[in-house]
Amino acid sequence: MYMELFPPEIEIIRKRVKRMTLRIRTEDECVICTIPWYVSKAETLEFIHKNKTWIEKQKQKIRQLRAMHIHREKGMLLYMGESYRVVAVEHATMPGIINKEEKIIISSINTEDESQRKEWYTLQAHSILPPIIDEQARLHGFAYKKITIKHQKSKWGSCSVDGSLNFNAKMMITPEHVIHYLIIHELAHTREFHHGEKFWNLVESCCPDYLEAEKYLRTMGRVIEI
Ligand SMILES: [Zn+2]
Repeated sequence: MYMELFPPEIEIIRKRVKRMTLRIRTEDECVICTIPWYVSKAETLEFIHKNKTWIEKQKQKIRQLRAMHIHREKGMLLYMGESYRVVAVEHATMPGIINKEEKIIISSINTEDESQRKEWYTLQAHSILPPIIDEQARLHGFAYKKITIKHQKSKWGSCSVDGSLNFNAKMMITPEHVIHYLIIHELAHTREFHHGEKFWNLVESCCPDYLEAEKYLRTMGRVIEI
């Protein structure tokens, strides 16, 4: 067996595929090129070269997300718009202790395990959201039935006709003002079950900066991943 030598920032995966594909690994911006068995090194390098502009764009996007703290690094967790380093300590619990000053989370979580991350965000949502929802409901006179935390791909929340509220655990990654808006949005649906003018006026009266949160969800919200 021989080793094909490629620059270190390029990783080649030979597979039973029909065509060459590219992706950029977010952790280290390495270019991962999947190629069919029969493609030569020269052809591969040419393919990568041809896609230079696309690769640069992807790398820029990754850097942008990282700068905005919504890109997760190894051993880190994103929480309320900030990046936290996870420190494993013996006897630490899964939800752990969140030190906001030092941006450290002491927890038993294995940050590289997606199902553990999902569980962690669910636990945080369960402990953080109900008191805030309760307070906001009392403050603005909304009545709701129960709160459910879910994992959905694109939905941030929903409100059923009977006043049950659903929230996406992923929202715990977004900044506090966005969480506040998402709560107000669903609470407002307990009174206005639509997205008409009356609904938005109600949202604005409870959350004057809601447009900023909406903008965040339209841009950053799309790329946030647990
Ligand atoms: Zn809505």
